Amino acid sequence: MSKARERIEQIYQQVVRRNPGEIEFHQAVKEVIESLEPVLEKHPEYAEQKIIERICEPERQIIFRVPWQDDRGEVHINRGFRVCFNSALGPYKGGLRFHPSVYLGIVKFLGFEQIFKNAITGMPIGGAKGGADFDPKGKSDSEIMRFCQSFMIGLYQHLGEYTDVPAGDIGVGAREIGYLFGQYKRITNRYESGVITGKSPEWGGALVRREATGYGVVYFTEEMLKVRGESLEGKTCVVSGSGNVAIYAMEKLQALGAKVVACSDSNGFVYDEQGIDLQTVKNIKEVRRARISAYAQIHKRAKYFENGNIWTVPCQVALPCATQNELDERSARILVENGCIAVAEGANMPTTPGGVRVFQESGIAFGPGKAANAGGVATSALEMQQNASRDAWTFEHTERRLHEIMQNIHRDCYETAAEYGSPRNYVVGANIVGFKRVAQAMLAFGLI
Ligand code: GLU
Repeated sequence: MSKARERIEQIYQQVVRRNPGEIEFHQAVKEVIESLEPVLEKHPEYAEQKIIERICEPERQIIFRVPWQDDRGEVHINRGFRVCFNSALGPYKGGLRFHPSVYLGIVKFLGFEQIFKNAITGMPIGGAKGGADFDPKGKSDSEIMRFCQSFMIGLYQHLGEYTDVPAGDIGVGAREIGYLFGQYKRITNRYESGVITGKSPEWGGALVRREATGYGVVYFTEEMLKVRGESLEGKTCVVSGSGNVAIYAMEKLQALGAKVVACSDSNGFVYDEQGIDLQTVKNIKEVRRARISAYAQIHKRAKYFENGNIWTVPCQVALPCATQNELDERSARILVENGCIAVAEGANMPTTPGGVRVFQESGIAFGPGKAANAGGVATSALEMQQNASRDAWTFEHTERRLHEIMQNIHRDCYETAAEYGSPRNYVVGANIVGFKRVAQAMLAFGLI
């Protein structure tokens, strides 16, 4: 074993020991640092200054109580989190997730990923993530409002446009961002637009932010196909999820001539041979906030599979846009056997390590979330730019910027993978691009 390899193994063991039980965090750390062997060999100063060890330890972590009352007057207690991982490249930046599965290990895996993702965008943003173990499912609008207000009371003093800038993630969309921003503005007596992104364009938000993650995943996929002499035109696609990322990934796929035949939610998936009718999905998910099973009631030709595995649906392009570890080794094998040629992650870490191995061994194009879904946070950075200059750009201009950013991300990952001896391996490329940018800034700042 090389010295660098040995060192990486030691760092990983130490992370596991110091963060017991945080399995998603361990998984995310392992995935990144395994790629860094050739980097440590080229740059002994990173090892001397313990850059990897420092990156694995968040700069600060905030855990707070979030009490709130439901519509019947019953009191509930949730736990709020904000893990501020790294601010070498800019203020902490990353979304908030409201989901019952949220605990420190999930927030840390997401925050750790965010460091590198944000660096890969080339924008001046650090990495963070937050959220709460609150379940928005079935809650009334006023319950959501009261929860968001209480959450912000616990967090506001740690935020600021130059300090920490949250946004949405699973369970946090434009409605929640509105309640959070409204409360921040009220408590602080400041109309500080740049303190949160994903705002509605009517009051300081960026056009295209809503669409950005989904559109960006598809632009990234297009680039991966281009280097293989392929395009999205006429391709059959499967997109898991039916939230914000999935909906706008499907929209862009359809706009580029692909056919999306299946999408899902946490209960099951729908298969529509004629192609998913996006207007119906938008209506079910964005307006009615209902379940995807309603699709098959509206379109009789479609089939709904309760608890089914969406990856059994044959396709050429698969975009996992639901949640972490939703695509395992077995499903990856099925996709490859069914002729899938490209997979790009719209969600964060949706493919298990075994699944990633299958994709890489089979030689298909695999775009990891850090690169493929970075369009969302990149457009958040564009929102911050507009807020800082009190400007508002057009949809077309913003989308052009997003498209360029995704093309640059693809190029950087592709070239870096080749430079470090793993051609076409976007996992290695993305990890090294993101790590080196953060490491260089950390070296420049001295031991802090
Ligand atoms: N939650 C999103 C992500 O995973 C967006 C974060 C942001 O816009 O700050 O990148």
